[in-house]
Amino acid sequence: MTTDQTFVIVGASLAGAKAAEALRAEGFGGRLLLVGAENERPYERPPLSKDYLRGEVGRETVYVHDEGFYAEHAIDLRLGRSAVDLNTSARELTLDDGETLRYDRLLLATGAEPRTLAIPGNELDGVMYLRSIDDSDALRTRLDRGGAVVVIGAGWIGAEVAASARQRGLDVTVVEPASVPLERVLGTEVGAIYRDIHADHGVRMLLGTGVERFEGGSAVERVVTTDGRTLECDFVVVGVGVQPRTKLAARAGIAIENGVLADARLQTGAPGVFAAGDVVNAYHPFCGERIRVEHWANALHQGPLAARTMLGHDDVYDRLPYFFSDQYDVGMEYSGHASGADRVVFRGDPATREFIAFWLAEGRVVAGMNVNVWDVADTIRALIAGREPVDERRLTDPDVALTMLVAGDHAALGEAS
Ligand SMILES: Cc1cc2nc3c(=O)[nH]c(=O)nc-3n(C[C@H](O)[C@H](O)[C@H](O)COP(=O)(O)OP(=O)(O)OC[C@H]3O[C@@H](n4cnc5c(N)ncnc54)[C@H](O)[C@@H]3O)c2cc1C
Repeated sequence: MTTDQTFVIVGASLAGAKAAEALRAEGFGGRLLLVGAENERPYERPPLSKDYLRGEVGRETVYVHDEGFYAEHAIDLRLGRSAVDLNTSARELTLDDGETLRYDRLLLATGAEPRTLAIPGNELDGVMYLRSIDDSDALRTRLDRGGAVVVIGAGWIGAEVAASARQRGLDVTVVEPASVPLERVLGTEVGAIYRDIHADHGVRMLLGTGVERFEGGSAVERVVTTDGRTLECDFVVVGVGVQPRTKLAARAGIAIENGVLADARLQTGAPGVFAAGDVVNAYHPFCGERIRVEHWANALHQGPLAARTMLGHDDVYDRLPYFFSDQYDVGMEYSGHASGADRVVFRGDPATREFIAFWLAEGRVVAGMNVNVWDVADTIRALIAGREPVDERRLTDPDVALTMLVAGDHAALGEAS
């Protein structure tokens, strides 16, 4: 099948590696290149703020595939190579060493990169960001030395780094302009639970304040907040969100709006060009809008879906968004998409840190988060997929089995993770 064709994947991380694997599994017999700017073969990022960062698991645990996988499957893995130009009319991709690759189909899996803080002192040594395994190694070296860290931003990365640093015994301060951690995704009520979890573990939570500048000689020594506080520190970790890596697509004239725009088949407006993972803002048939998801499960599943549509199958990506986070002894899974939610209700007492939060829109469950309650994510997903009005009293009553509330079979939107 299609042995005379060349497929190129730009971005050798989870979405790209899973797409390459799926192309071979689906029988693609042509030339297949996987181009990645990093020197490391594809790896998973979630451990980089959790057990890998804390030094509890080794490097060998984070890779997407065994070392020999790419050669065994005739995947031409080009590491340490950036794609710098894309001509979609000529179907040519140019790499930073000047090589030009002709392609029949191309997948953009260029991911996302941390937003940086444009404030004085951002360039000082010890002001750290976390995206790559090298970043995680550098951060672990700092954790090994101990001392005081200021974490800027209480989103997922900031919250997980704060937890890992506390677990390693550091003195941790979090500075966050919102009133609670994770406010953008979880809202104030559920975010407050995470505030309390961190406070209980001894993290100093400075909420409702931003950062004005970093001060120090060659290395950061102090953080000055917008409300006038000066925080002495040994280093800083900035986790203020990510932005999609769209430079290559923009050079090619591909439409961009909060990521590379794509249809439900993950096809962009350029002929033969597809996009998957953190970089794509694709129409989601179930959500009825375009969404860009910056989570592991999305990259894991969009890669293979894109592989199928690159091969001409008529699939659409309609899996419900799913993500997970681990902080201290609190694990959670979140399913769904809470835009338009008008209410949050709880099954179980949040104070016990074993509960499920449901986001409702007009009486229907649109998202759910199970915290230290396991084996329920698929049922929550079925509840969301069913789109049926729920009886709130039964939904919040732990004595009523969740499965009793699910109408019909909604497995089509994918099991959790
Ligand atoms: C520290 C950390 C912890 C996380 N924890 C969780 C978690 O607990 N749960 C969860 O659901 N998600 C988590 N995530 C998010 C998850 O890792 C991402 O959603 C996932 O990595 C996205 O995969 P991707 O392949 O789309 O993009 P990326 O992983 O961003 O990879 C894109 C790759 O493309 C390469 N690239 C970019 N441009 C070019 C170019 N022009 N030429 C060649 N190569 C290029 C980049 O170097 C990079 O290697 C975490 C992320 C981080 C950083």
